[in-house]
Amino acid sequence: MTEPGMEDLDRALALALENRALDDAAVTAVTRCPDCGLHRLFDGAREVRCKFLGRSLSLCAIINAKSGACSEDCAFCAQSSRHHTQSPRHGFLDPDAIGRAAAEMRARGAHRFGIVASGLAPSEGDFEKLLRAVELVVQNGLAADVSVGILTRERLRRLKAAGLSGVHHNLEVARSFFPGICTTHSYEDDVAAVRLALEEGLFVCSGGIFGLGESWAQRAELATTLRELGVRNVPMNFLIPIVGTRMQDRPVLSPAEALRILALFRLMLPTAHLRVCGGRGTVFGAAGGEGQREVFDSGASGIMIGDYLTIAGAPPEADLELARAMGFELEDRPAGGRG
Ligand code: SF4
Repeated sequence: MTEPGMEDLDRALALALENRALDDAAVTAVTRCPDCGLHRLFDGAREVRCKFLGRSLSLCAIINAKSGACSEDCAFCAQSSRHHTQSPRHGFLDPDAIGRAAAEMRARGAHRFGIVASGLAPSEGDFEKLLRAVELVVQNGLAADVSVGILTRERLRRLKAAGLSGVHHNLEVARSFFPGICTTHSYEDDVAAVRLALEEGLFVCSGGIFGLGESWAQRAELATTLRELGVRNVPMNFLIPIVGTRMQDRPVLSPAEALRILALFRLMLPTAHLRVCGGRGTVFGAAGGEGQREVFDSGASGIMIGDYLTIAGAPPEADLELARAMGFELEDRPAGGRG
């Protein structure tokens, strides 16, 4: 295959600026553009972001409401019961504790608050606690999201009645890569969960994790699936190889590769919010540092602040300071709706 030239990259950027799907040649122009073209790529990604999303920056935070002992076998995850890790294990937290955590993150700058629980679906008892926790998050002035596995339509409606804003359900990887990552449920189960939440008019966050050994073609395949589903909020996670998981020996992605993934998704999903979540500190360095500046300026339009699921994050203040210094407008109220 011949190396793509700058004219191919310019054509990819032109397609993105018109919110048209990238064809294979345009994808190749992004994934294989030589290093001397990277400035053009990142400038273009920023231009696309500014055109469709302006300079607003969305900040979300999560709480690990139920941790560990998960029935699923996702290769990267410290919470799978198949893995022997030092990750915390606890049952579903008291809803009042979740409400207090939401209030704290609201005071520190978050607008959305995700209640995350391990497992394929909550038990009846946990679901009742979840309903109460959603009410408390809303009372504390945040948009309440849940990431609790696969929810039936009836449960989605009960959560909506309690004030739920959004559902977070990652596809994680491309369909063609999924069998090597998870065998305990199917890719179609995840796609159906995303479709159902969209049908119910919820704000839907669905994205992936990178650095598991997937190819560039598979990264593009995931972006295409998300575009076809109509997902408008895409968490971008980068593997933190955790001892005891099947991914423990994978190298951490280089910042250059991770930035190119962000740019690829920005061009393939021009109108979607790309929210950089897990692995942000591991790949891009200390909060407020030069690496984080590149994240903000590469086409991303949101970040997760505070702690990750099983790993402590940096204090949010440095992220907020950098974002303001770069001229981003921080959302000051929860963003709801289908997103
Ligand atoms: S990613 Fe979610 S479903 Fe998969 S093992 Fe971890 S907690 Fe379970």
